[in-house]
Amino acid sequence: MEYISTRDHTHRVSSAQAIVSGLAPDGGLYIPETIPTISPRDIELMSKMDYMGLCTEVMSRFLTDFLKEELSEYIQKAYSGKKFGPIAVAPVVTLDPASDAHVLELFHGPTCAFKDFALQLLPHLLTASLKKTGENKTAVVLVATSGDTGKAALEGFADIPGTRICVFYPEGGTSAIQRLQMTTQQGENVLVLAIRGNFDDAQSGVKKIFANHEFAQTIAENGFFLTSANSINWGRLAPQIAYYFSAYCQLVKRGKLRMGRKINVVVPTGNFGNILAAYYAKCAGLPIQKLICASNTNNVLTDFITTGVYDRNRSFHRTASPSMDILVSSNLERLLYLMLAKENQADADIRLRDMMASLDAEGRYEIGPDLLKLLQKDFEAGYANDGQTFQSIFDAYRSCNYLCDTHTAVAVKVYQDYVSRTGDRTTAVIASTASPFKFAGDVLSSAFRAHIPNDEFERIETLTKLSRLKAPHSLAALRYAEERFSMTIDADKMQDELLMWLR
Ligand SMILES: *Cc1c(COP(=O)(O)O)cnc(C)c1O
Repeated sequence: MEYISTRDHTHRVSSAQAIVSGLAPDGGLYIPETIPTISPRDIELMSKMDYMGLCTEVMSRFLTDFLKEELSEYIQKAYSGKKFGPIAVAPVVTLDPASDAHVLELFHGPTCAFKDFALQLLPHLLTASLKKTGENKTAVVLVATSGDTGKAALEGFADIPGTRICVFYPEGGTSAIQRLQMTTQQGENVLVLAIRGNFDDAQSGVKKIFANHEFAQTIAENGFFLTSANSINWGRLAPQIAYYFSAYCQLVKRGKLRMGRKINVVVPTGNFGNILAAYYAKCAGLPIQKLICASNTNNVLTDFITTGVYDRNRSFHRTASPSMDILVSSNLERLLYLMLAKENQADADIRLRDMMASLDAEGRYEIGPDLLKLLQKDFEAGYANDGQTFQSIFDAYRSCNYLCDTHTAVAVKVYQDYVSRTGDRTTAVIASTASPFKFAGDVLSSAFRAHIPNDEFERIETLTKLSRLKAPHSLAALRYAEERFSMTIDADKMQDELLMWLR
């Protein structure tokens, strides 16, 4: 199976090449040319497998130039008990025995957020893809981060042979925990630098380095080349498809769901990667009825799914669910292509190019009524502001004894609104994307109406006491971890620092 660019369906590459390149040369995103079929019989077999086996099964359908044995080896390494804890990789927990809503916990990895699912596996997929495509230079992964992605990427690439990773974060622009998670990172091949400026400065600094061909040539002479680990890479999307199959099988095994019955899936959404993975699961054959897209006050996707108008010309809000503070969801391009291709395969790429040109030039595009209907057959949307998010944390704790982080709380609220609006009580799986201990301050004040201590570790300790839950070891251990990286540089010195490191 080959991969095509969303902006030119005649541009075809192998899955390994798609992973090495990240973005297609025409600026499009890579998608599989056809979506593989996973039959009801396959799903039944999967329900007898452990997470690793199931994940190997799902991913081998999408990454056809990898051997199953190969994928299995990487998956074992990525999701081992050492990384994800001994109990379960992606457990499903019932939110309320009386209701038919369940939470898919995706935060048991090393950084306590769902990005671990992709970023623990991507380094293995990338190094294997480099071998397959004949590249023998060391890959230098550059990341600009506002918090979560940087740590997840560091944790994934640390000490992976054939790679180096350099993360830039804005000084003062992350939470104390997020900063410590990065500056205490172990590994011989990692570099973490704070920059004077905000996230946009870090991001545009990285973009400039990528665009500098002279720089690329210089480091090539030293045996290096640059690559990115951001969420448009197919190697980050593919691993996320598996956990929706796993959630379904867990519900069946526990007698909460009859094999073949449909479920609804609710996803707290930012860049549209996680929910798109659920859509691919649906297209491949997982019985999903509705995909419910949950946003915070940055509700550009809610508007798009309800009206067909995508318009980023609006104010940007900093919210209590920062990983969803996003106005341009890059992975939406993949969904648009799939929808356009349903209407007419032949010119989907051409129509998509027009829409993306309009997004570039005017910050908006619009889809017609037919396409909107097609979209609404599969997708629903809603949003919650911070006040509603905090209330949702309180309600879930009081009525279901379940402690949510702020991102998950957005999804829970949007799901409840959906049920009130439609009366649709289909079994629902709500993706829980971060540990409540990662956002201990907001969770303390929302669930327990407790005073928020100034110190992050005291927050975690207080939350442990009040909730009687165990804080993830990786967060609690940060208190005593040694900081390895303390350098802050000007944003215009990013390239110089990088070059020194790559000598
Ligand atoms: C990244 C992230 C999201 C958003 O996921 P997308 O795939 O970008 O839509 C939601 N919650 C948390 C905690 C995240 O880190």
